[in-house]
Amino acid sequence: MHLQDAQLLRNLNPEQLAAVTLPAVPALILAGAGSGKTRVLTTRIAWLLATNQVSPGGVLAVTFTNKAAKEMLTRLGTMLPFAVRGMWIGTFHGLCNRLLRAHWKAAGLPQSFQILDSGDQLSAVKRVVKAMNLDEERFVPKQVAWFIAAQKEEGRRPAAVEAFDEHTRKLVQVYEAYEEQCRREGVVDFAELMLRSYELLRDDEPLREHYRRRFGHVLVDEFQDTNRLQYAWLKMFAPPGAQGQGVFAVGDDDQSIYAFRGARVGNMADFEREYRVRSVIKLEQNYRSFGNILDAANALIAHNAQRLGKNLRTDAGPGEPIRVQEAASDYAEAQWLLDEARELHRGGMPRSEIAVLYRSNAQSRVIESALFNAGIPYRVYGGLRFFERAEVKHALAYLRLLENPDDDTSFLRVVNFPARGIGARSIEQLQDAARASGRSLAQSVGAVPGKAGLNLQGFVHKLDTMRSATQGLTLREIIEHVVHESGLLDFYRTEKEGQDRIENLQELVNAAESFVTQEGFGKDAVALPLDEHGPGTLAGGGETAIPSPDAETGEIVSPLAAFLTHASLEAGDNQAQAGTDAVQLMTVHSAKGLEFDAVFITGIEEGLFPHEQSLSDADGVEEERRLMYVAITRARKRLYLSFSQTRMLHGQTRYNVKSRFFDELPEGALKWLTPRQQGFGSGYAREYRQAWDRGQGLSGIVGAGRVERAEPWQQPVPFTPKAPAAPAGQAPLRTGQAVFHTKFGEGVVVTLEGSGEDARAQVRFGRHGVKWLLLAMAKLTPIE
Ligand code: ATP
Ligand code: MG
Repeated sequence: MHLQDAQLLRNLNPEQLAAVTLPAVPALILAGAGSGKTRVLTTRIAWLLATNQVSPGGVLAVTFTNKAAKEMLTRLGTMLPFAVRGMWIGTFHGLCNRLLRAHWKAAGLPQSFQILDSGDQLSAVKRVVKAMNLDEERFVPKQVAWFIAAQKEEGRRPAAVEAFDEHTRKLVQVYEAYEEQCRREGVVDFAELMLRSYELLRDDEPLREHYRRRFGHVLVDEFQDTNRLQYAWLKMFAPPGAQGQGVFAVGDDDQSIYAFRGARVGNMADFEREYRVRSVIKLEQNYRSFGNILDAANALIAHNAQRLGKNLRTDAGPGEPIRVQEAASDYAEAQWLLDEARELHRGGMPRSEIAVLYRSNAQSRVIESALFNAGIPYRVYGGLRFFERAEVKHALAYLRLLENPDDDTSFLRVVNFPARGIGARSIEQLQDAARASGRSLAQSVGAVPGKAGLNLQGFVHKLDTMRSATQGLTLREIIEHVVHESGLLDFYRTEKEGQDRIENLQELVNAAESFVTQEGFGKDAVALPLDEHGPGTLAGGGETAIPSPDAETGEIVSPLAAFLTHASLEAGDNQAQAGTDAVQLMTVHSAKGLEFDAVFITGIEEGLFPHEQSLSDADGVEEERRLMYVAITRARKRLYLSFSQTRMLHGQTRYNVKSRFFDELPEGALKWLTPRQQGFGSGYAREYRQAWDRGQGLSGIVGAGRVERAEPWQQPVPFTPKAPAAPAGQAPLRTGQAVFHTKFGEGVVVTLEGSGEDARAQVRFGRHGVKWLLLAMAKLTPIE
């Protein structure tokens, strides 16, 4: 292989160059957003390969999100003259999955183990809590699931958990029973992927040694977000003190945003100490964003006390100001951003260069529907949207049962869906029989007597028939067959809103098709470069296709199994057809490491961003601020910040105050598209609370009609409180009026504001306290 490595290194500054061309030693690159960390890491891989210091099979590179891993592969693909797909470059979960697929036997897993996504995991936990006769109020399944995940992330099996009180002891028992259930069903959850592969390497010395020799270079992006277990996992491949092995960690303490999942910024200090890193390389030149965007990022993050401290600079000039928009409602916000996005696109910006970021997944719905109604293609990343839809999960459950008849979670999901006369009582009987014999549900159908037993056997027989009928079919044909034969299609045909669901099932076939093309299954699968171990050796040393072949038989996992794994790991990429130019929607968390020409950060409101759950302690607010820093630094050219006075979230209308973060941004870098209201921000929040206590709510302060400052391009528009008018067809209300609400009972109107569709009232209810209600929806009846 001959590569112009000089050309490879041409576009690097001196510090970057030094980092890229370091010898095979432990190295830590600590640098701010957009300073080229990922570029350095990727270029280093290319350079190591180009100069023959390592073979493609000898590189292990880890990052956090699927999108980031893909991006890294794409960037690498442009630098190297051969296919990079078989290289060990991926997310922690993806690589763990690959390792376990190759060594399923040694890891104590069935060959076709399935991965539980978070929804499946929750229902699995629920079943355990129920089987143990525990009170779901005290052992809330969601909290139990968190407990189990947290233990696993600390590397603790049930026996290793210290329980000082009765409640914790019970939780540990649930953890134990949950493990047993997963084992019986041949399923693993996300945390298990990590822990299981860590234990595999820890306990199997020859295997560990094999991988240690194999990976001459281990590289980690976003190191600040690794948790204890991930760090320990990395050490299995590259222990401190090993000679001649390169360990390359890059990170930014200001972008540490996963503390809630056990991420430890402290891993960076530990790494520096344990690996005796000689010099930490810092990069301060930012190549991504214009000056105003960077000034905002620098000024914001300076409000955090716990920092290693660094600043970003750019030669790019100030660029455009950051545009700030205040909207009356979340609908108005979505409408505004879609108009802006359309304008940007008309001006020549590809839609894929426009990102809409939000703090919480739930915010995407309104934005999605606005884009959808306007016919603008979009893609949602991060949330498990598509694969979480019920009909899709049903179809996947059937497919999983074809792969693994003992998958009880899937069995329970569809045993009576569509309905086939199998009641809750029969299922309980079946579960008892399975528990008693320690076998799976499918294996226990014979133990249920009577008609119910026959129905159950009929179901298992149906699955068997489908299994044999789909042998040798393509993935597309298998899915079509299953959707049809399972009865799902017929069922949704008769349902009122079934059309949507049928389309989603169709989309599942599309998803499978694009998976086959992307992952190289089928006729155009290309052989990938082999490493020094040759094909078919231990660990699937020379990969021929993704996923790895089984270590012992050399058998390549079936496309169906691979697709099911993909569905669990990479859920949610299917709103716009692959290849369509689409606006990018994602949470701030999943935007980490990415960049876009234009970025909208929406819903920057107190309680939402910073999130209300973070407000009780300073660490929480600092983490939110880092999150905001991540969001701001995604933008190359244009940044929009927006907040909305009202928002529907979790079925309630919330009345909002704009985020404290606005007070932390340099005024000179901002351009207010709507006039800035006096006193908004922390001072406003105080006033707001006092007004709230006085029973005046927003109108108590905003109604004063003051405008602090108007930009020359924006005529001041003083706020004039309109006389509140009721929505059409409803009797007008007045303050002091007694009203009746179907859910909250009797109350008294304290405040009225807004008009028409927007009219809202604050009502003090006898039993339920004070509530804000949107009159168009709340339907208050006046009582005299
Ligand atoms: P983050 O912290 O957000 O992950 P990062 O430090 O990983 O950011 P990169 O994504 O590697 O930064 O780089 C940011 C942008 O700057 C990319 O578009 C990259 O191609 C570009 N860039 C990096 N270094 C240079 C350079 N020396 N010359 C020109 N462009 C560069
Ligand atoms: Mg990066």
